[in-house]
Amino acid sequence: MEQKRIDQQSLMFPINSKEIKEAAQFLSDLIKINTTNPPGNETEAAEFCARVLKEEGFEDVELIESAPGRGNLIVIWHGTDPTAKSLLLLAHLDVVPADPSNWEKDPFGGEIEGEYIWGRGSMDIKNMVVAEAMACILLKRQGFQPKGTIKLAFTADEERGGVMGVGYLTEHYWEKINADYIINEGGGFLIPLGKNPKDYVVQTGEKGVFRTTLRVRGVGGHGSFPIKKSESAMYKMAKICQKIIEYKYPIEITPAIKELADKISLPGFFKKILTSKRFLRIGLKIADKKMPVMSKVVLPFVMDVLNPTVFKASEKVNVIPQQVELSFDARLLPGHDRGTIEKYLRKALGKKLFNELEIIPIEPSQPATMNSTENPFWNTVEEVLNEMHEGAKMVPMLSSGSTDSKYFRSKGGYALGICPMKIDPNISFGEMLEMAHGKNERIWIPNLSYGLEFFYRLIKKMNTL
Ligand SMILES: [Zn+2]
Repeated sequence: MEQKRIDQQSLMFPINSKEIKEAAQFLSDLIKINTTNPPGNETEAAEFCARVLKEEGFEDVELIESAPGRGNLIVIWHGTDPTAKSLLLLAHLDVVPADPSNWEKDPFGGEIEGEYIWGRGSMDIKNMVVAEAMACILLKRQGFQPKGTIKLAFTADEERGGVMGVGYLTEHYWEKINADYIINEGGGFLIPLGKNPKDYVVQTGEKGVFRTTLRVRGVGGHGSFPIKKSESAMYKMAKICQKIIEYKYPIEITPAIKELADKISLPGFFKKILTSKRFLRIGLKIADKKMPVMSKVVLPFVMDVLNPTVFKASEKVNVIPQQVELSFDARLLPGHDRGTIEKYLRKALGKKLFNELEIIPIEPSQPATMNSTENPFWNTVEEVLNEMHEGAKMVPMLSSGSTDSKYFRSKGGYALGICPMKIDPNISFGEMLEMAHGKNERIWIPNLSYGLEFFYRLIKKMNTL
């Protein structure tokens, strides 16, 4: 099938330029270093990036291991003006597992074919490592000197919560990693609205994580004997599970959805729907049928999510369990906590079932973290996007998943999740969203170029502030 092309004129670094050929090779080599987490093995990737950056003359380059093999790289490009704002460009080195039997190409082959680079990490998020590093490299080659300090941090363990990566660094190397502004993964794609989309999603917050185990007890015994419903822990837990799934979680018009409605390029009528509880529930029902991706994007903004995920009962098939456990993942809106979960359980289960429950928190828990769009850096980033794409707008997003930005935001930092991308004409929006942790992950090279250009322009822009 003939692949569609975009207007190469609009890229600062066309895909056949020597800069992008170099960046593509960099990414391909980085993908070949298998950093599947677990176990991670990020040190090898961190060493590789360190070598590249040192060869380019970066001097303050430090590899910090949180444990053997769990390498984090911090590179500091010292600014000339100690009063100027500092910027941290962050990205993680680890990737999620990939089962090669589902892929068209080797997930760790780093194959470059036509306008694509294939492999695990090509979209999440080794592409960003390369874009950030190459932006610094290209500017340094031109003799550019930053006014404010620019930091690069390529870190371990994000895919498993970041404890061995940014979690470790914020605890032990806070001064070294911290900056006035942080750019991380989590956004940058265009919302497919209208013929000429201009709204870039920027992650400004993350929902809280409050995983929980529920336990109920009953009468045990041998599998060959009959058991009363009222004594069966299995029966009670099956009911509990059903009720948790069926419960209609309330919709809440949060400040996050108000900010989104304010910024998004939609007619006033739709903005109204987004900020009215009643209309939103109806609107989401319709969207679910006509544009399921849209409801997937909007739902996390307005609703807590509880999903049962683990059932634990008898170890043996012929033994009736005395206790049954059900664990669920809970992602909560800003301001919500364990008390909110208890309230839901009380309502969903009714008094009798609720009173039979033991509620056991799975730690660590993490309240939602949120940054506002009312910040000068928000405007700076939007100006940069406008240089690249006339009329571009940034739309804030509270994400249902979690990234390393939470570590900064929970300490009062200002982190935006954005690595901008154009719409890949060969891949649908839905497929693009799933590719990051799915099969056949690949990046369209013009998007590697676009990300690089964004960081390149942003670093230059920081000098004008
Ligand atoms: Zn990621």
